[in-house]
Amino acid sequence: MNLVYLDHAATSWPKPREILDAARDASVHAGGNPGRGAHPLSDAASGLLYSAREEAASFFGGIPERTVFTSGATCSLNIAIRGLVRPGDHILFDNLVHNAVLRPIRALEAAGLCTSDFYDASGSDGELMESLRAKAGPRTRLVIATHQSNICSRILPIREIGRFCRERGLLFVVDAAQSGGHLPISLPEDGIDALCLPGHKGLMGLPGVGLLLLSDRARCDPLLFGGAGIRSEDPGMPEELPERLEAGTLPLPAIASVAAGIRLIRKTGLDAIRRHEEKLSALFAEGIGRMGRYRIAGESRGGVVSILHETVSPAAIGTCLAEQGICVRTGYHCAPLAHRTLGTEKQGTVRVSFGLSNTAQDIERILNVLNEIDEF
Ligand code: PMP
Repeated sequence: MNLVYLDHAATSWPKPREILDAARDASVHAGGNPGRGAHPLSDAASGLLYSAREEAASFFGGIPERTVFTSGATCSLNIAIRGLVRPGDHILFDNLVHNAVLRPIRALEAAGLCTSDFYDASGSDGELMESLRAKAGPRTRLVIATHQSNICSRILPIREIGRFCRERGLLFVVDAAQSGGHLPISLPEDGIDALCLPGHKGLMGLPGVGLLLLSDRARCDPLLFGGAGIRSEDPGMPEELPERLEAGTLPLPAIASVAAGIRLIRKTGLDAIRRHEEKLSALFAEGIGRMGRYRIAGESRGGVVSILHETVSPAAIGTCLAEQGICVRTGYHCAPLAHRTLGTEKQGTVRVSFGLSNTAQDIERILNVLNEIDEF
């Protein structure tokens, strides 16, 4: 069956040839363990790792030594949140957050280490800033923002939030799981202290890699302890970054694939990617608007659009689409607070998400099936 893949918010697919080649080349030509030996294959691995670090750092305006490879966005967020929080701190997060943010915070609260509250991202950017200003108190030290929701196309004004954090001396953590590789992000210009994202979504790499880019203000404690390739005789993790936060062997082939993804994005241009996704989401939203009984949840001009039908459940719609080879995500999207914010907590949504590989024909195919369901 000819598949139509519209689930890029879950993971990108198909992986472009350059990405698969980079992973294969790393396995063949740099197959040693980086930083763990003096032989040619280990040296080649160290060189490749450093160049991937430089590639990622320069793409996001970070510093190579403070660009940490993790196992995914979830791991990056856990390290940032747990590693930056000090006992008694108050954390502010938006009400579109993913569980990768919410659950680490809830665990810290359950351990009596911090308190938290959310600011409201359901209105305009101005209203969001007002809510943030009203909620920030004397104990607030960390502000977290979901750069783009994983349920709809709402994008948070990270530059304004970053400026506010700088003015107040707060640390700013950005969850860029849905925006990395889709929207421009700059650590210094957006005032970000910890940028967290996966390699397998917008950056188009293989799964198993996340990025955590830290500003020079962020003093982040490790979450994982183990071999780091340096200072093996010390009882604790080394002070130096990135080794301090990179315990254990890194997945170099996947890291090389992420660096290749970044090169591909540079070649294509972030603007061109954004325009392509906006064109597809506009086509999709127009088509949905012409049908009688669907509604769009939240914003729809971007890479992620969620819909609901008056009578047919998201799960039933997902089954019909899957039978026709159309891949979307349905139900709940690991973001319970966001579902409440968007009024979709009853059954979740049908989430359609776009990527570079999609075409107008893909949109036509999904709209045809959705129309049949609507008219049934
Ligand atoms: N934050 C958001 C907004 C996400 O959409 C996701 C992935 N669904 C994550 C964090 C976690 O990413 P990963 O599963 O790749 O660790």
